[in-house]
Amino acid sequence: MPLRCIGPDGQSIQSFDLPEAEWSALGQENRRSRQLRMPCCDASVVMKVSTRGLKFFAHKSRGPCQSAPETEAHLALKTLAAQAARRAGWTCSTEASGSSPTGETWTADVLAHKGEAKVAIEIQWSPQTNEESLYRQERYRQSGVRCLWLLRRSGFPVSQDFPAARVSGDPAMGFQAHLGGQVMPLDEFLDAVFAKRFRYEIPVGAKAIVRIHGWRTFFRGEVTRDIRYIDVCVGPHRIQLTVPRLETFPDLLASCKEHIPKAIGIGLNKPRYKLHNDEDTLTEFQITITERWEKAIKTTASIYGWGVFAFE
Ligand SMILES: [Zn+2]
Repeated sequence: MPLRCIGPDGQSIQSFDLPEAEWSALGQENRRSRQLRMPCCDASVVMKVSTRGLKFFAHKSRGPCQSAPETEAHLALKTLAAQAARRAGWTCSTEASGSSPTGETWTADVLAHKGEAKVAIEIQWSPQTNEESLYRQERYRQSGVRCLWLLRRSGFPVSQDFPAARVSGDPAMGFQAHLGGQVMPLDEFLDAVFAKRFRYEIPVGAKAIVRIHGWRTFFRGEVTRDIRYIDVCVGPHRIQLTVPRLETFPDLLASCKEHIPKAIGIGLNKPRYKLHNDEDTLTEFQITITERWEKAIKTTASIYGWGVFAFE
């Protein structure tokens, strides 16, 4: 179910660009003169509206066309992706064809471009083997196109060369993007993609929250608080750094201590006999990921995958 058809002058017409009055005028004209053509096979077009009110173009009769039928979810997701590209100031088209330098052709669900940059968004609602996904991704790469995948199923090959999010939901309830621990409305995710805030691993410059955890220890009638570990929360990741680890980054440890309110008597985690203790969040504060923080994080955890980040 394409969102695009070809007008009488060979121009692309996108269904979501047409206000109600223009849509019905175009429909009347098309019923009279059959001037609209399908982008896939040049067949005549009938203009339709889905049960959820999404406008699309369909084959008047399918004939020998091999283009796969699409679900309403696919139609809705293409619309959301195209609209997000437009919001970000990209020129975009749905069901857009191109070819690789070796002459292999492809059709992208959504193809956006801005200056020299080209981005495809592929919606994969039906199962597709990893081999097929990687083959199609490589074909886009050779064609100079970055491709983002919106996949219904988890278990896809996460890598720097395969930017992807799992998508849940339906046209009635709305869609959500899932990135490891992050879940957000699809609109919000797509806006982050076009704002270049969808990034691999942990980008330097990202905003993070540091949470300092300690033990509250009651010992011989006195209460002390010891740093046990800190959490760095950035994008979809939560990385735990223990005190022994932090001691190899004394500058970072010192900057953490500076944030602990003076009223809290604080020591490092020294082994001692504890009569009673509770875990306690001593304080939290915002940082920007510097190369030092990146290094400290990489010594303790292997972080991979794609996430949405906030920047200064
Ligand atoms: Zn067709």
